[in-house]
Amino acid sequence: MTGRPGGRDTSHQPRRDSMYEERVSDPYRTREKWKEPTVCPDCRAVYHKGRWAWGVAPQGAHEHRCPACARIHDKVPAGFLTIKGSFFGEHKDELMHLIRNHEANEKERHPLERIMGIEESKEGATITFTGSHLARKTGEALRDAYQGALDIKFSDEDAQVRVSWSR
Ligand SMILES: [Zn+2]
Repeated sequence: MTGRPGGRDTSHQPRRDSMYEERVSDPYRTREKWKEPTVCPDCRAVYHKGRWAWGVAPQGAHEHRCPACARIHDKVPAGFLTIKGSFFGEHKDELMHLIRNHEANEKERHPLERIMGIEESKEGATITFTGSHLARKTGEALRDAYQGALDIKFSDEDAQVRVSWSR
């Protein structure tokens, strides 16, 4: 028996000599280097030339979840946007339209930047994102369109961003 119950059986893992530290400590983007080309089985994004992009996977491409789909699968957002204040209740459809539009534009160019989920409450909404960039940009888009107060906090350890916007 190998050491499964202990959970530390590394005997079958190939040695990875080319472990590569990136500046941004996002475990979902640095945990492993994907072989090229790789296609994500969930969203069909293709990893090629060092980045994930939309496209047609070449025949024989490896299959591996992209960082965005891995986060969705694990339910681990890279960013949170909390919206608070009476303005939201009064302009909900308008705000959600702006947020969705913004996501569509970003996702077109950056497949890893997506909305994960939207939870509405009486006081506002919390939106989760697969990419910290989109969370921040969405908060800035709200402020640019409607003023209000924007607050952005990064946590380096978790590679997460918490954005809150209120008006
Ligand atoms: Zn994917």
